Amino acid sequence: MENKPLPPHVFIFPLPYQGPMNSMFNLAELLCLEGLHITFLVTEYIHSRLLTSTDIQSRFNSYPGFQLRSVSDGLPDDHPRSGEKFVEVFDSLELKTKPLLKHMLLTSSGGLRRPVTCIIADGILGFTCDVAKEIGIPIIYFRTLSPCCLWVFFCLPKLIDAGELSLDQSDNMDRLVKNVPGTESFLRRRDLPRFGTFGDLADKTLQLSKKEGQENPRALGLILNTFEELDGPILSHIRTFCPNLYTIGPLHAHLKAKLSPQTTSLESSSSSLWNEDWSCMTWLDSQPSKSVIYVSFGSIATLTKAQLIEFWYGLVNTGFKFLWVIRPDIVAGKDWESQISQDLSEGTKQRGYIVGWVPQKEVLAHPAVGGFLTHSGWNSTLESICGGVPMICWPYFLDQQVNSRFVSEVWKLGLDMKDSCDRVVVENMVKELMEVRREEFSHRAEEMAQVAKRCLSDGGSSFCNLHRLVRDIEDMMI
Ligand code: UDP
Repeated sequence: MENKPLPPHVFIFPLPYQGPMNSMFNLAELLCLEGLHITFLVTEYIHSRLLTSTDIQSRFNSYPGFQLRSVSDGLPDDHPRSGEKFVEVFDSLELKTKPLLKHMLLTSSGGLRRPVTCIIADGILGFTCDVAKEIGIPIIYFRTLSPCCLWVFFCLPKLIDAGELSLDQSDNMDRLVKNVPGTESFLRRRDLPRFGTFGDLADKTLQLSKKEGQENPRALGLILNTFEELDGPILSHIRTFCPNLYTIGPLHAHLKAKLSPQTTSLESSSSSLWNEDWSCMTWLDSQPSKSVIYVSFGSIATLTKAQLIEFWYGLVNTGFKFLWVIRPDIVAGKDWESQISQDLSEGTKQRGYIVGWVPQKEVLAHPAVGGFLTHSGWNSTLESICGGVPMICWPYFLDQQVNSRFVSEVWKLGLDMKDSCDRVVVENMVKELMEVRREEFSHRAEEMAQVAKRCLSDGGSSFCNLHRLVRDIEDMMI
């Protein structure tokens, strides 16, 4: 009997943060479902957190071709890897992890696994392309941020030359930006990506993002977590730099569509770095349809104590029920709980449900959720779109400023609250979204959710692009 040839072997290396990693795990699982072999490389820091918060191994148990490996990021265990120290992770990955990566790529075959056919790495880790070219393995980049922000990154050299990228709030931030083709009629200076408020950090993050315009086209293709029907005009601009785009998103929904009805447990597709508190789903079950505003600022954003209190009063004063994720590390300093006044506690007891981390995709798909107050991270935005949930955007940094403008002005899926954190504004915006313009926003959000669903079904744009990606990887086998 003739032996079946071994399938392609894809080596995946994500950026070691929650959002990008979620997308890469979803991609890995989609490729496993197509029968490909996967080596998934995470940093040791992430590996240890995955083992305590999620049973990641059991998620991939049914895919014998999947293996999880870890590598040092070169930083000490007690390094925070976030906030002001964020950029040190990039420096260390390039300096310390890069040499180890080469070795791992060359030693990941064996047994029933062929040598690595193709690398899929986060496109912000430009050094992976150097390694790939050195050892002659094809590389495809995956940019897990929004295409609208990626396009702004490609335009950064022109924006900087024209002096349009200003962090100086005394400038007129409402002036329209001239140097991002395709967005001239709506993108304001305040909608451009923020690179942090810390001088050195801001500068380094900016340099890193600026490099993308040069780095990304070096790969054979670029995978994007979006769908053509959402981002078509922006994608046509990106294609002038990177013609070979694989738009295969929204990935979490793409995976769900492929897994159903095989999947038995919703929890099985998690790659959370925090323990998910599923009790909120029972609380949601007891709430009327579209009556709850869900509030979360993702995995990285932090709040000052003053901001936390403003949000809190704003939410309690709306009179709506709210489900709020307050991550243990969301506020710098531990003493904020003592500042919660009696009336806030009372209001929260009556209307609020506060948790440390939720299964967000499931929350956004729950019929009781009628709105999402979000930091506009790209994954959160896509999860909200797929759930048909309108948004109030309070962006924190990087792509979030651009995303929130697209949500309000281009896709008309909600309101943009950027640069304001005041209890009265919070209250008014929640009321506008959940009450005054509820019909308009719900209708629009449901329409967009249907479009997203169609692009994942047989013959849809993302469905076809995933197949093209798999075929292209198969063609790379020698
Ligand atoms: N998330 C979650 N539970 C929470 C809050 C967030 O599972 O309580 C997930 C969310 O579903 C999303 C990711 O964390 O997939 C956050 O990614 P995003 O790109 O929105 O923001 P980031 O954390 O990268 O700023």
